[in-house]
Amino acid sequence: MEAEANTQDVLVLGAGAAGLWCAEVAARGGRDVLVLEKVSRTGTKVLASGGTRCNITTTLGAAEAGRLFGPKGERFVRAGFRNLTPAAVRARFETWGVPTEEAPLEKIFPSSGNAKDVRDALEGAARGAGARIHLDDGAVAVEREGDAWVVRTAAGNSWRARALVLAVGGKSYPKTGTTGDGYAWLEALGLELVEPVPALVPLTSEAPWVHELTGIAWQGGEARLEDDGGRVLERRRRPIMFTHRGVSGPASMDLSHHVARGAGADLRLRVDFFPALDREALRAALVASAGLPGAPRLQRALGTLETGPMPRRLFDAVASAASLRSDVAVNGLDRKSRHALVEAMKGLPVPVHGTVGWDHAEVTAGGLALREVNPRSMAVNRCPGLFVIGELLDLNGPIGGLSFQAAFATAQLAGEALAAAAPS
Ligand SMILES: Cc1cc2nc3c(=O)[nH]c(=O)nc-3n(C[C@H](O)[C@H](O)[C@H](O)COP(=O)(O)OP(=O)(O)OC[C@H]3O[C@@H](n4cnc5c(N)ncnc54)[C@H](O)[C@@H]3O)c2cc1C
Repeated sequence: MEAEANTQDVLVLGAGAAGLWCAEVAARGGRDVLVLEKVSRTGTKVLASGGTRCNITTTLGAAEAGRLFGPKGERFVRAGFRNLTPAAVRARFETWGVPTEEAPLEKIFPSSGNAKDVRDALEGAARGAGARIHLDDGAVAVEREGDAWVVRTAAGNSWRARALVLAVGGKSYPKTGTTGDGYAWLEALGLELVEPVPALVPLTSEAPWVHELTGIAWQGGEARLEDDGGRVLERRRRPIMFTHRGVSGPASMDLSHHVARGAGADLRLRVDFFPALDREALRAALVASAGLPGAPRLQRALGTLETGPMPRRLFDAVASAASLRSDVAVNGLDRKSRHALVEAMKGLPVPVHGTVGWDHAEVTAGGLALREVNPRSMAVNRCPGLFVIGELLDLNGPIGGLSFQAAFATAQLAGEALAAAAPS
């Protein structure tokens, strides 16, 4: 005979960034909260994040940060980011004894540079507010029974709760414990899922000339992703790196969800190496350097531009895309060659064929369709008492603390909604 289920006021599945934050807010607001975590420690991904430094949020304001989630995502996070701004996330960590500091590319890190401080603060705050956490007790089944939620765990426990928060994350970096367990539960409840795909992940290219650029990084460029009709899907002005498998670095990783979703489609990454200069300015610079004494070679002439000299191998690739030899003298360029060179510098086409996959993806794009969720409370519209927060939602932004910002902001809303419904 099956054991009688234990009863619990609020159950949170997953002691990651979102689950711990939500548990703290709900417990502080008077709810009796139990968090069930699958692995033997809390916040495994927090510990691994930001190169173990943990980029907790962004220096951007709420509206600007929201825009980075695309039109649909922006509408969804608007209330949450206003309610818990990036500055408020930073302030909350300060009150938990974790001072923070700004870093380039709009990032915020703990001043200690230690992700463990962030994880310890989240866990300490949740426990301090009264939430209990069971480790090594992952959920294996989630069902609705009457007006309660019933959760069975791998350890053989069974829980019956009035309110259930799903914070089990996505399926990226599965070795951390996030193996996409939530999707099957949501599907079984008849809820709409957007197919999960790996995101914030390096891209692969089968072009040998791309592999030959391995090790080269370009800091000041802009990558844009185009479909076969030349339509720009998205652009990011961030560093880009060439690897033995293709392209990496924030610019290409930020665009990777399009590639993962369009696998097989004819997508092209174009790199603008001089985004601060328009075509006319580049042409003028080339014409001006043609007039310099000593007939400078192309590569040297480009070295006078504000970004500094291009690494030789990269320059060879750009010249080759313009059907030029890189040792040609600038004053030997005719109008047509100059035009071709400027086009290659403003949009070198880099063929991309896919991503390096789930094992190296920082996040999951896709998940529970946003239309299923109330953006002011994270309550699932068709399932009373059910809340979904964090990466399990169909919500993804670029690198730069935006994923944690979304996890914390959605968790804060769910925690507040639970607190507002606390029995008096
Ligand atoms: C290498 C790496 C670096 C990153 N760096 C950054 C960064 O610097 N800044 C940033 O903003 N984002 C970063 N991210 C992304 C960020 O870590 C996630 O977006 C964020 O952790 C999502 O929070 P979450 O609470 O939704 O999910 P998670 O933090 O993944 O937490 C989910 C939790 O649920 C648990 N769980 C899973 N299944 C079950 C189950 N069946 N029952 C119970 N528990 C379960 C998991 O073990 C985990 O503890 C990084 C990700 C990776 C992989």
